[in-house]
Amino acid sequence: MTGIRERVLQQIEAATEEIIALAADLVRIPTVNPPGEEYCAAAELIADHLRRGAMEVEFHRTARRLGGPPRPNVVGLLEGDSPGPCVHFNGHFDVVPPGAGWTVDPFGGKVDNGRLYGRGSADMKAGLAAAIFAVEAIRRAGVRRAGRLEVSGTMDEESGGHAGVAHLAEIGRIAADRTDHVVIPEPFGVERICLGHRGVYWFRVTASGVMAHGSMPFLGVNAIDRLQPFLEAIRTRLAPALRERVTSVPVVPEGSRYASINVNAIEGGQTGSATQTPCVPDRCSATFDRRFLSEESFDDVKLEVVELLASVEHGADALELEDLLVVHPTATRADAPLVRSFERAVCEIVGQPAQLVASPGTYDHKHVSGIAGVNSCIAYGPGELEQAHQADESCAVDDIVTSTRVMATAVLDLWEAAV
Ligand SMILES: [Zn+2]
Repeated sequence: MTGIRERVLQQIEAATEEIIALAADLVRIPTVNPPGEEYCAAAELIADHLRRGAMEVEFHRTARRLGGPPRPNVVGLLEGDSPGPCVHFNGHFDVVPPGAGWTVDPFGGKVDNGRLYGRGSADMKAGLAAAIFAVEAIRRAGVRRAGRLEVSGTMDEESGGHAGVAHLAEIGRIAADRTDHVVIPEPFGVERICLGHRGVYWFRVTASGVMAHGSMPFLGVNAIDRLQPFLEAIRTRLAPALRERVTSVPVVPEGSRYASINVNAIEGGQTGSATQTPCVPDRCSATFDRRFLSEESFDDVKLEVVELLASVEHGADALELEDLLVVHPTATRADAPLVRSFERAVCEIVGQPAQLVASPGTYDHKHVSGIAGVNSCIAYGPGELEQAHQADESCAVDDIVTSTRVMATAVLDLWEAAV
């Protein structure tokens, strides 16, 4: 088997420039989400590379009317020489808007001082390029493939992945009966294997009041005032209680090992920059982002909010709770064969023990486990988590190649272990 690994690693060595060029070319396509620009160009570029790697290519898009630009997902398949576990690499090609503060062109794809710069360089076009070439190196090395390899490029991850990975899962393209392992090259770094993520509960609380002329506020009921005690209860009662709860799951950064709540938005009265007219506002709402731990159940998490609401003045009669989003915590077992194979590959290629981590925020893993029912899913990819969504986002070129080596080695290890 050693000979096989050497052959594959040699192919990666020889393809170094191609790998970086693909990552840079992907960065140069401004696939900004929202609204979802240039998705077709990115999907075509990926499809092109998959076809050149002798993969069968499929395009899948949701039939749901979403408005805005077209939203294609691309999937490449390379059949095995013999039946065996199917490994599916999935990377999202959408990026968040560049924002302010850049000193380089966010879509220039410039390589400088050993780093590839641009929006999406770390999150996660470098990872997608690495996954494509991990599979391609195995093919070029002429290795007997003991199972099918798949690579998908999907979009909309940054806005929830509903038309992306969720769609592939809904149509059975990623499914427990055909997909054994899923690897998502999110930027956790070359020595880290991410097993899953915490839970999310987004909710909105709306206070209702009675409108009146602002010069005679005693004739109305101010909805902003009505919401205030609840906001205060969140800040002084719930938030401190959550800071006491710590998970045993190795979430990084460590500050995210605690349960948390964030007031995400508040809206009441005459918002925006429009001219103000004197009114007592009759509505005020706030949106909250509660992150929960795998040790907490969603029912308890919600009950806690319901009870808090009932405990504040006018909570029962003037405040209304609305669920916006629930994502349950998910984690692949640390002793799963996929994790073991990546651990061994990291050890061999990076030369240090792999660090098993979990993510503070969610990513497409939720659809892989939640909709597709695939329990063997990890995130592994180049780049530092801290670079994601930042100005001057960049990714070390060496890490892109290293992660390609790790991915390819892990696949060979999985096949070996499955024999
Ligand atoms: Zn990402």
